[in-house]
Amino acid sequence: MGLTDIKQRIAKAEAAAGRDPGSVQLIAVSKVQPNERVAAVLEQGHRLFGENKVQEAAGKWPQFREEYPDARVHLIGPLQTNKARQAMELFEAIHSLDRPKLANTLARLAQEIGTCPDLFIQVNTGEEGQKAGVLPADTDAFVAECRALELPVRGLMCIPPVDETPSLHFALLAKMAKRNGLDGLSMGMSSDFEEAIAFGATHVRVGSAIFGERTYD
Ligand SMILES: *Cc1c(COP(=O)(O)O)cnc(C)c1O
Repeated sequence: MGLTDIKQRIAKAEAAAGRDPGSVQLIAVSKVQPNERVAAVLEQGHRLFGENKVQEAAGKWPQFREEYPDARVHLIGPLQTNKARQAMELFEAIHSLDRPKLANTLARLAQEIGTCPDLFIQVNTGEEGQKAGVLPADTDAFVAECRALELPVRGLMCIPPVDETPSLHFALLAKMAKRNGLDGLSMGMSSDFEEAIAFGATHVRVGSAIFGERTYD
């Protein structure tokens, strides 16, 4: 548990997979965590964080950024089009590009603003009804559609079903990224980030194993 431990485990997993040290970026998922815990991880020198709600991120990151201007925050949760502009202003990357309507909105705003966060397309690898993401069969076409809109698509993202072996999903996502010429793979959470690294993850999203359990009230 804790940042130091997770960084060591990432380094070990990189080495075990024959990957370069530092080739995996650790996104410390700070959603719901008390500000003291987030501040402590910032004080330890960590600068890359993940949030799953625009509103929540807007409530805490502007202040943290005053003290830590080099902090970067990635959106890892669903994005409504009416919050797209705010998200583009708040986040260095968005990991939840999951539908044509959102792609069109982001493209229009990118034209207007002149910049766009790095984007990851979320793939619903488990084809779960309640889960966001494009279906595996639609992914190649959606990547092409986003590229035609000149969106900066950096990679693919997935959240495997809780009751399935994550490695099958990691392998599928890696295969889809490769055939689309995408380098980024956002996959792996507290319980499975080492496996994700073995399958090529470039961004692991780790929350509770760094900060402790989230308590929702
Ligand atoms: C909350 C969340 C995580 C982190 O989950 P932990 O199990 O706490 O590591 C990772 N990815 C997404 C998309 C999340 O919503």
